[in-house]
Amino acid sequence: MRRMSRLPSPPANQRAVRRHNLGVVLRHVATRGPRSRATIALETGLNKSTVSSLVTELIDRGLLNERGAERRGMVGRPGLVVELTGHGAVGLGLEVGVDYLAVHATDLTGAARHRRLEAGDNRGRPAGAVLDRLGAMARDALADLRAQGLRPAGATVALPGLVDVASGTLIIAPNLRWEDVPATAAIAERLPEPMPIGADNEANLSALAERWEGAGRDLQDFLHVSGEVGVGAGIVLGGELFRGTRGFGGELGHVTVDPGGRPCACGSRGCLETKVGLEALVAAAGAEDAADLLARARGGDAAVAAALREGGRWLGIGAAAVANLLDLQAVVLGGYFATLAEWLRDCVAHELHERVLGPGWAVPGVLASELGPEAAVRGAAAQVLHAVLADPVALGEPLEAAEGASAR
Ligand SMILES: [Zn+2]
Repeated sequence: MRRMSRLPSPPANQRAVRRHNLGVVLRHVATRGPRSRATIALETGLNKSTVSSLVTELIDRGLLNERGAERRGMVGRPGLVVELTGHGAVGLGLEVGVDYLAVHATDLTGAARHRRLEAGDNRGRPAGAVLDRLGAMARDALADLRAQGLRPAGATVALPGLVDVASGTLIIAPNLRWEDVPATAAIAERLPEPMPIGADNEANLSALAERWEGAGRDLQDFLHVSGEVGVGAGIVLGGELFRGTRGFGGELGHVTVDPGGRPCACGSRGCLETKVGLEALVAAAGAEDAADLLARARGGDAAVAAALREGGRWLGIGAAAVANLLDLQAVVLGGYFATLAEWLRDCVAHELHERVLGPGWAVPGVLASELGPEAAVRGAAAQVLHAVLADPVALGEPLEAAEGASAR
């Protein structure tokens, strides 16, 4: 039986199926790369005329474009391939770091379209003042993106603490000394246009960035530890971020490793962060600050090398506990740990070998992040784009098309 493709007003369930299939086709192109309509039909099992119509709609919505011919060697006439367009939607990542603010916009091809980083200690500063500055950076970003003809699809705020993802509230950030900050609402108030805004913990977003575009792209189960002033971790299991019941999982920095150790910003004592957080490393090395620590490590300073070996040992002890629980493929060193990977990696690997139960080949490898200090803000931008891929219709129509429609 031949189905009628264009009824004047399809019933709700047909619209829902079409909406679902738009996402199927868009995600297929996103994960498998540029390909022809015929190839998409073959691989997704959707019929050719359906795929053709879905692709046309995705092109009209400014999410796909069409170019050249599929690679030679295919049977028959070479067809046009469709690919994600870099001229449409962009995701905006915003980050409150303990000692910096960052903004990063990524288009659907993964290219960075706007990036800013402002160093400055945010500890003890009122949340309102810090968010004022981040809001101003976001407004600059939106103006720049609009000037490039791009469509901001939303924003995600990366925060250095426990975040209630459902309400977008920062519950506590020990290093900032902030509590109960309604972060997404605060950012929404500071933007010139309404858009979907989310918030998440920076370590979670770093792990997602690593999974989507970094060292973890071929991994299913890994621990991403990011070293900043605090020590955060994101746990990816089965390719997905593990959040726990309330989204508070991954606080590796506040796992006790030394019950009689020094007090921690969280109120506890002997947390991993007191051993290998950036301040602990700087103090143990007798360095002035992070830049001095790095310069002296590069210069072969013996005291710095010893402090980093000791820090790496503690980091390995913490990572081994997680590896024993979760049977991981790898531990990815992110944030400042990636910058210091040259000095930390062997010590972490040694502790894993000493402490993880199982044959040597089952001990997780230690990788350095390829994304550096931008991982969290890039993960934040990518999370917005993943929402577009999940439901392309939610993004709405491009401005010109919408204006054209309302003029009719
Ligand atoms: Zn702590």
